[in-house]
Amino acid sequence: MPLEGSSTRPNARQKTRIVKVAVPCPLYSSFDYRLPESYAGLIEAGMRVRVPFGRQKLIGIIIDEIEHSEYPTAKLKFVTEVLDSENLLTPEIFDLTSWAARYYAHPLGDALQTALPVYLRNNDDTEPSLTEYWRITTSPAQNLNNTDEILQTLKRAPKQLQIYQLLLNAEKEAVINAEHGIDSETFNSLTENWRTPVNALLKKQLIEQGTKVAVLTSHDNDADNQAPRHPLNEEQIDAVNAIEHDQEHNVHVLNGVTGSGKTEVYLKLCESVLAAGKQVLVLVPEIGLTPQLTQRFLEHLHTTVVVLHSAMNDKQRYAAWHAAANKQAQLLIGTRSSIFTPLPDLGLIIIDEEHDGSYKQQDGFRYNARDLAILRARNKNIPIVLGSATPSLESLNNINEQRYIEHILKLRANKRPLPKIQLVSLCNQKLFEGMAETLLDKIKQQLDNQGQVLLFINRRGFAPLLMCHDCGWTTNCQRCDAHMTFHKRNNQLICHHCAAQRPAPDQCEECGSTNVLAIGAGTERIEHFLQERFPKSQVSRIDRDTTRRKGSLQEKLEKARSGESHILVGTQMLAKGHDFPNITLVCILDTDQALFSADFRAAEHLAQLVTQVSGRAGRAEKAGQVLIQTHHPEHPLLQTLLHRGYKAFSVAALQERQDAGLPPARHLVLLRCESVDASAAQTFLTQAADLGRQIDNAELDTFGPLPAPMERRAGRFRYQLMLQSTQRKILHQFLNWWVPQLQKLPAARKVRWSVDVDPYDTF
Ligand code: ADP
Ligand code: ZN
Ligand code: ZN
Repeated sequence: MPLEGSSTRPNARQKTRIVKVAVPCPLYSSFDYRLPESYAGLIEAGMRVRVPFGRQKLIGIIIDEIEHSEYPTAKLKFVTEVLDSENLLTPEIFDLTSWAARYYAHPLGDALQTALPVYLRNNDDTEPSLTEYWRITTSPAQNLNNTDEILQTLKRAPKQLQIYQLLLNAEKEAVINAEHGIDSETFNSLTENWRTPVNALLKKQLIEQGTKVAVLTSHDNDADNQAPRHPLNEEQIDAVNAIEHDQEHNVHVLNGVTGSGKTEVYLKLCESVLAAGKQVLVLVPEIGLTPQLTQRFLEHLHTTVVVLHSAMNDKQRYAAWHAAANKQAQLLIGTRSSIFTPLPDLGLIIIDEEHDGSYKQQDGFRYNARDLAILRARNKNIPIVLGSATPSLESLNNINEQRYIEHILKLRANKRPLPKIQLVSLCNQKLFEGMAETLLDKIKQQLDNQGQVLLFINRRGFAPLLMCHDCGWTTNCQRCDAHMTFHKRNNQLICHHCAAQRPAPDQCEECGSTNVLAIGAGTERIEHFLQERFPKSQVSRIDRDTTRRKGSLQEKLEKARSGESHILVGTQMLAKGHDFPNITLVCILDTDQALFSADFRAAEHLAQLVTQVSGRAGRAEKAGQVLIQTHHPEHPLLQTLLHRGYKAFSVAALQERQDAGLPPARHLVLLRCESVDASAAQTFLTQAADLGRQIDNAELDTFGPLPAPMERRAGRFRYQLMLQSTQRKILHQFLNWWVPQLQKLPAARKVRWSVDVDPYDTF
């Protein structure tokens, strides 16, 4: 509704209302605007408005209505248009976001913009006409009973037959792509002259046309493929009962070894919640895991599902958001940012792989979706389940202190034993691209016995650096304290920290020697080596470089699952939650870096990784084995993990954190600062620390300014100030006073700075 007379500037003395508006701009503050008095009672926080901003017109969000502005009313500009008649950010989401903005010491305006789908930040229509698509009719007209009969009748119209078959294939992939049918763009890429046959099929009601997003319904799945549901075992039943009967809705941690049937517990819990007409939010750490999980939910529950993740475009994401917000979908499966989706009938939240670092946003608004989910469940008084085979030390600490309730699934549901883990010492061994002979022998054995092997190395590319054998020159990044990784396939050097890229030199850039060596091995090199060594086996590399094309990750995962690929070489991507039934051997190639990392979470991550990756082995009929390469087989972390398990490791690790005064024993905040000018960054942090000292607080410790572990990145020098306290409350009281003043520090204008509450790492 455009404002009356908004083109002519209303009389300055006219009675008006004042609203605070969050505007999408890099400035860290909100802005005051005026609205005619006639808007009394019609506006609410969370509604979008169009406002003049400099020379632009931008879409902002109303934060609040205020009595008085800090600025003279006459100088305030008028809102051009109120775009919504109801608040798109519902009170629940608005409150959650406001709380998060305070907790993470982040400007409210920016936090609210983050909570809103990107599409709504840039477009004013709230009923977007989504891409049109065509799909097989759900209830075929005429008296054709099955697909075969339909195909038979189409024999005489080959073009229609072709289109129909394309749509049939699309149907099969609907779950994988979280997309229905085929849109015009895709048709254009598949075939020519498709419009006429499509219209003919429409007329015959064999296909239908739609405009809304993928709300997947259980019905969409082929009923013949329905896997039978297992009766739950005792441990699973106990967990379900305890969670369902908990009137207080405590936080429940489902601590179950890999393959113990956690997902079955989720399904069971969903059943009753969905039957009561409520909605469920399932958070997953990464996109790769959504199709698998979506499929299982659709197979076993009678429900409607939408998926939300970063590989979808703005329009698709908005449509999914819209479907959830308008109750067209009962179940939302999504990654981190889905936590901000309105779900009016929310009745249960599930956080899968709760220990995963992807739940923490690492730039901008640095929230942790797991922690916000807990708050959301509390506010709404509904159950929440955090599932993991390797719960975070934070969650374990909360269990110890009886804030969370733990449910343990000790055994694999299909009674398969957990795999045997063995260390392979690298000391004095002849190495082949970083792999010991014994390891290669074991791989060969497995392949000979029709086994499947997974090799994990958290380093993509061919080699982490090139080095001159004559003078020692190395390929350093000009802008970072790091080497540039050699990618052989496109013969490039790429910095994995700032993305700088250049052709790989054939000669030393220092002495001109051609004796340049690739040092160390990444996924690409391992893949090459193994393919040469085992030419009859299919080697599949799964990392960010080989899965850029849309759909390629799913394709590779499918081949891994079906056993078509014999050797899988991959990074982090492969470590998480995947169920590859045929894997008999898992090799972790490099643990030494993590054993001696400067980051305080490195040990926890390594223990989780080893346990998670190991969990990929021996999930089905064939027993599994795990080999871990290291130069330090006696290392206490590895020894504890191997002989006494993740639980024992976590007890020791929690004690270490306690002794070192690190989370979760003490709470941590980082003030990060970077600048092309190192001294400017240090000066800012010194000024910030000095400001902080004005408040005398014995319960709060400040350390720094210290250089970040990687001091220079992308041409900027990076420093940090660390704040610690045993009491959250004290820390937050301090932040609320301190952070708003930081912008005004004299050195603030020459640097970039950010506050990170509960940081995931200290890099
Ligand atoms: P998790 O999520 O803990 O890794 P899943 O739920 O994926 O475990 O279960 C692992 C395997 O065990 C799956 O193939 C699943 O179908 C099977 N499974 C789960 N629960 C049972 C049960 N009660 N009886 C038999 N098999 C089960
Ligand atoms: Zn040289
Ligand atoms: Zn770089």
